[in-house]
Amino acid sequence: MDTIEDINWGSLPFGYFRTDYNVRCTYRDGQWGELEVTDSEYISIHMAATGLHYGQEAFEGLKAYRGADGKVRLFRWQENARRMRMSASGIMMAIPPEELFFEAIDKAVRMNARFIPPYGTGSSLYIRPLLFGSGAQVGVKPAKEYMLVVFVTPVGPYFKEGFNPVKVQLVRDYDRAAPLGTGHIKVGGNYAASLRAAERAHAEGYASVLFLDAKEKKFIDEAGPANFFGIREMSYITPKSCTILPSVTNKSIEVIAADLGLKVERRPVPVEELETFEEAGACGTAAIISPFKSIFDRELKKEYYYGETAGVWSTKLYNTLRAIQYGEIEDKFGWTTILEGI
Ligand SMILES: *Cc1c(COP(=O)(O)O)cnc(C)c1O
Repeated sequence: MDTIEDINWGSLPFGYFRTDYNVRCTYRDGQWGELEVTDSEYISIHMAATGLHYGQEAFEGLKAYRGADGKVRLFRWQENARRMRMSASGIMMAIPPEELFFEAIDKAVRMNARFIPPYGTGSSLYIRPLLFGSGAQVGVKPAKEYMLVVFVTPVGPYFKEGFNPVKVQLVRDYDRAAPLGTGHIKVGGNYAASLRAAERAHAEGYASVLFLDAKEKKFIDEAGPANFFGIREMSYITPKSCTILPSVTNKSIEVIAADLGLKVERRPVPVEELETFEEAGACGTAAIISPFKSIFDRELKKEYYYGETAGVWSTKLYNTLRAIQYGEIEDKFGWTTILEGI
């Protein structure tokens, strides 16, 4: 599958597919330069760049959706812009202003408009902004130069199961982030730390890992790339922890849940509570809502079972979120931005 003609929009994987252009901007001598557009997939950077050595790197992920009315919408991009500023600040990188962030994603989407999946296919255009220290440094200190890159790629659901429930594995022998570390910001290092556990889970037949709080191993933290939620007796329950990445999707689902009449609880969630949930799942831009069929506690050899099909509330939340993103229902929370003229 190499050219756009070969794309089966309805069965796209969540992966990289080459598009026409990407957008870049360099921070140098204390200021951001002009946006540059290129058709090269490669970046030429100094071998001593801090992004390569000391993990000065952060990224974002959001999507552009072709709606029922033919219009292209972004979902809460301001939240991604804000989070990228938090990530940048958290690891001492130059901070991209909101206007620059928007200009870069807007340009990347427009210039690759032919790759926005048609409405009705369930696919969307994934937007990946990344920011890294490009300046050379050998002593451990922040770089003086940074690069912001935005590329886009058409995607289907993150888990190949789509909205069908997945099996996940709860682990105690790995952590993805340390308390007072970088779990709350979207830096690549958190992902590097999660890879061993994730690959082992895949090899053992699970779609994802569920991590516990690193300090006490008593509370649910999050799934590798997505936040956790459980539903019980009309309550939407999601963990509160300083090592969880604040998910825009989760934050939005909390609002939708409250609007649909659920009570919303964000608090520490003890592992034992898994037993009491009627529904459980993961949420994020890539995962959207992925219901859990079961959670297997790898160490205690204990399985929590939720069902072969998605629960009623997970389904309602999923449908409502998607309907807002694809412009099928009124955007009463003001979350979407229409990109005019594409
Ligand atoms: C990006 C990410 C999420 C999901 O956040 P969204 O804003 O909903 O896309 C959840 N957990 C981790 C660790 C992430 O990096």
